[in-house]
Amino acid sequence: MQKIDLILLKYGEIALKGLNKPLFEAKLVDNIKSRLEKIGKFGVRKSQSTIYVEPLENGLDMDEALKTLGQVFGIVNICPVMKCEKDIDSIGKAAVECVRPLFSKGKTFKVEAKREDKNFPMKSPEICRVVGGKILEAIDGISVDVHNPDITVNVEVRQDGFVYTRKIKGAGGMPVGTNGKATILLSGGIDSPVAGYMISKRGVALEAVHFHSHPYTSDRAKEKVIDLAKQMSAYCGKIRLHIVPFTKIQLDIIEKCPENYLTVIMRRLMMRIAEKISAKEGSAALITGESIGQVASQTMESLVCTDNAVAQPVFRPLIGMDKEEIVTISKKIGTYETSILPYEDCCTIFVPKHPKTKPVLAEIIEAEKALGDIEVALNEAIEQEEILVIK
Ligand code: ATP
Ligand code: MG
Repeated sequence: MQKIDLILLKYGEIALKGLNKPLFEAKLVDNIKSRLEKIGKFGVRKSQSTIYVEPLENGLDMDEALKTLGQVFGIVNICPVMKCEKDIDSIGKAAVECVRPLFSKGKTFKVEAKREDKNFPMKSPEICRVVGGKILEAIDGISVDVHNPDITVNVEVRQDGFVYTRKIKGAGGMPVGTNGKATILLSGGIDSPVAGYMISKRGVALEAVHFHSHPYTSDRAKEKVIDLAKQMSAYCGKIRLHIVPFTKIQLDIIEKCPENYLTVIMRRLMMRIAEKISAKEGSAALITGESIGQVASQTMESLVCTDNAVAQPVFRPLIGMDKEEIVTISKKIGTYETSILPYEDCCTIFVPKHPKTKPVLAEIIEAEKALGDIEVALNEAIEQEEILVIK
C-alpha cells in the first residue's frame, strides 16, 4: 500500500457557479468535516479550487476516509497523495517511492505535472521530464508511454510537493444544502431511497416522511425504514425522518370509499400529510419513487390524480427509469439488501383486487366526500408523528 499523507479533493461543477462559488465551497467543506467526524480528527481546508484533507492524529483509518469521501456529493475526484519538500530532488524521490510498489517488468508510465505555485523554477513539461528520468533511472525494465500508459504519475507543485497515482472517482453532483430542501415520501421499497439519493445528489437536503399502519405493519417494517434512512444519510447527510401513523385514515378509506379507488385515495392523503409536514419544515417540494406504469397507481392518469391533491410540486426522479436501472443504483448506494427484506408496507396490506388504472379525478373527489372533514384526521396523524434525526 502506498503511504497517504493527505487527500486532495477536486470539485467540478461547483467551480462554475460564479459569484456563488465561495458559498458552494464553504458548504462542501462543512459537509466533508461533518462526515469525517466519525473517523477521527482531520484538517479540511480549501485552496486554489482544491480541498485538502489532512489527518491530524496518528493511525486514522485512511481507507475508511476515502470511502466516506466517495459518498460526499460535490466531489469529482479523490486523490490520496504523498507530500514532500518543494524541490525537484525531493519530488523525484517521492515519485519513485510512490510508484515503485506498482511497477513490474514491462509496465509503462507517464508523468503529468501541474504547477500551481508559479514561483517554482521549473515549468510543467520540465518537471515531467526530470521526474520521468528519475523514475526510469531508479526502476528497471519499465518505459514511458505518453499515449496509453499503465500508470500515470501525477505531480502537483502547490505549497508543498504532492505526488500521486490514484485518482478515485467521487460521487459527483453538488454539495447537499446548496439547493434548498425537499421532502421524500420514504417507503421500505427499492425505489424511494434511490429517488432520495438522486435528488440529494443535486444539492437538495432531505426531510423524510414514512407512513406506517400499526398493527397491520410491524415494528420490523418501521426499523427497516430507519435502517434505509441511515444508509441514505451516508450520501444525503442529516435526514429528519417523520414517522406518521396512518392506520386510522386507511381504515376510514377502506370503510367508506369504493374499493377500486382505495390506492389512489390513500396516495392522495399521504401526499396531503407529507405536504403539510414539508411546509412546516421549510421544504419546497415533495419527492416520490414512482415511475410511469410500474403499478396501477403509477399510470399517467393515476399520477395526475395524485398530484392534484397537493399544491407543492412533486418531483419523481425515477419517472422514466426501468426497475432494472433503479436496482443497479440501489445496489451501488447500499440500500438494496435492506429494501428487499420481506416486511409489509402500508401500501401493500390493503390492495384492491381491481385497482383503476385510468382513474377519473371527478369520481375520486366525489368518493372522498364520504370521508367527511378529513382535514382533522390528517392533522391528528401529524400530531402523533415521531421524529428521528438520522445521521
Ligand atoms: P418503493 O416503495 O420503493 O417505491 P414500491 O414500488 O413498492 O417501492 P409503491 O408502493 O408503488 O412503492 O409507492 C410509490 C411511492 O409512494 C414510493 O416510492 C414512495 O415515495 C411512496 N410511498 C409508498 N409507501 C409509502 C409509505 N409507507 N410511506 C411513505 N411513502 C410511501
Ligand atoms: Mg415503486
